[in-house]
Amino acid sequence: MAEPNETSFRESVDLMFNRAVALMDLSPGLEEKIRVCNSTYTVRFGVRLRGTIHTFTGYRSVHSEHMEPVKGGIRYAMGVNQDEVEALAALMTYKCALVEAPFGGSKGGLRIDPRAYDEHELELITRRFAYELIKRDLIDPAQNVPAPDMGTSEREMAWIADQYARMNTTDINARACVTGKPLNAGGIAGRVEATGRGVQYALREFFRHPEDVKAAGLSGDLDGKRVIVQGLGNVGYHAASFLRAEDGCRITGIIERDGALFNPDGLDVDAVRDWIAKHGGVKGFPDAGHIAHGADVLEEECDILIPAALEGVINRSNASRIKAPLIIEAANGPVTAAADDILREKGTVIIPDMYANAGGVTVSYFEWVKNLSHIRFGRMQRRAEEARTLMLVNELERLSSDKGLGWTLSPGFKDKYLRGADELELVRSGLDDTMRIAYQSMRAVWHAREDVKDLRTAAYIVSISKVAASYQAKGI
Ligand code: NAD
Repeated sequence: MAEPNETSFRESVDLMFNRAVALMDLSPGLEEKIRVCNSTYTVRFGVRLRGTIHTFTGYRSVHSEHMEPVKGGIRYAMGVNQDEVEALAALMTYKCALVEAPFGGSKGGLRIDPRAYDEHELELITRRFAYELIKRDLIDPAQNVPAPDMGTSEREMAWIADQYARMNTTDINARACVTGKPLNAGGIAGRVEATGRGVQYALREFFRHPEDVKAAGLSGDLDGKRVIVQGLGNVGYHAASFLRAEDGCRITGIIERDGALFNPDGLDVDAVRDWIAKHGGVKGFPDAGHIAHGADVLEEECDILIPAALEGVINRSNASRIKAPLIIEAANGPVTAAADDILREKGTVIIPDMYANAGGVTVSYFEWVKNLSHIRFGRMQRRAEEARTLMLVNELERLSSDKGLGWTLSPGFKDKYLRGADELELVRSGLDDTMRIAYQSMRAVWHAREDVKDLRTAAYIVSISKVAASYQAKGI
């Protein structure tokens, strides 16, 4: 939703890409090959609903196939168009490279307001859209693996997985055709909250580096930091809820479709979420002021701003008034290229989308591996791990008693230490590790190079180098 005089989402991504490649030593041919979107398939299909045929328009865009399968979510929103889907597919290429998820970049979208249809109608529409993509190999465990995005959730992913299985009855890896499925349909523990969890891990890693915290004009850790979040959907809700409950952040502002809530003492994120579920919006929520023009709250004083809804919300028209010293882009493309320039000048630190919201694709990668290996993570080793730990604990206790030392392990420690990791713990560990390593790779470039002034340019340099190496290894 950029201003009329603003570049489009895809142009913004290209401008940011160009700024980074200008600092790299790639041949112009390779630069162009990486930048362009390989293909975009547009489909128009009809579904009979309420006695008449409704025609829908959908897209699946493949940005880069330097690794296959390609990966990227499917979005349901009225604003979906080719430009947006191509921008999102490009971001997927860079995101996967940055966090070392072995995929090329893709994205899909359906121009629809999902709230205008009931569940049965949405199932018919989703299955038909999936059918159109599956028959062209645009959904396939080896070639193209979608996931949820705005307006879709595990429910739609389960329908897509089932549709694929019906059309490929002998494919033993059918479940790996889509990620973000419910657990009972081949999903993985921790996927629903993965993107929000990744935002939390990204902020924790940022605050482990005092030099970076200082660059944003902040100090200390996350405890007590004032946070404003835009969009209390899958990503925004989980990020805000974890930051509040586990890191002591104060969520002072929540911006939704029907306005914003603001309370300097902090908002109960779970209560707001329940209120939205019951009343369809934030309006009327007690214990907070309601601001009808929600986007104004983006400009309120806070320590951390988390845009987690739409692209282009921080643009030429409001960038200079943004007071947050630190922005973490939980949504894709919330800051336009023009706004990025203005904010960089002001010294605002931006943790860029391709890193900040990579938790989703990271855990999707784990889910895809789980589906291909046909076994839950931890199933083979968990009890063996517990048995070995118990042996060690028993031996320590025996030694202590033999030598009359009187050492005892506290029961809380013993219980925790003896418990082998289950799938959720392994997923969190893998996600945390990924977010830490990726941040460190970006900051290394940010701090090592005089000509790299921000984390976004650093992120592009790291990811483009990896994509370039893949193309070069292929001999292109
Ligand atoms: P979602 O549909 O679950 O939630 C979006 C939320 O934003 C909803 O609560 C909606 O009411 C709100 N919203 C819509 N328009 C708004 C407006 N004008 N102002 C304020 N709020 C508004 O979507 P999501 O999955 O949380 O995705 C949000 C963003 O995160 C998107 O940019 C998406 O591409 C990105 N993302 C999502 C995932 C994922 O795993 N779901 C992964 C990576 C990136």
